Amino acid sequence: MKQCFFCSQNVDQVDYKDVDLLPRFLTFQSKIIPAKKSGLCRKHQQRLTKAVKRARYLGLIKYQP
Ligand SMILES: [Zn+2]
Repeated sequence: MKQCFFCSQNVDQVDYKDVDLLPRFLTFQSKIIPAKKSGLCRKHQQRLTKAVKRARYLGLIKYQP
C-alpha cells in the first residue's frame, strides 16, 4: 500500500501556492485524483482539496477546458 506523500515528507499543511506540487495530484483534466489512487490519507486529501480550490480561485491553477 502506498504511503501518503505529505505524511512521508513530514508536511502538515498543503501549500496552495506550491503550483509545482499541486498538479501532481490532479488528472490531466485538472480534477483531483481520488485518495485511493494517490495514496493520500484522509487528512491530507481534505487539505489538498482545499488548497487546490484556493489555488484555482486565485488563478494559480488553470481549469482545463
Ligand atoms: Zn497524510
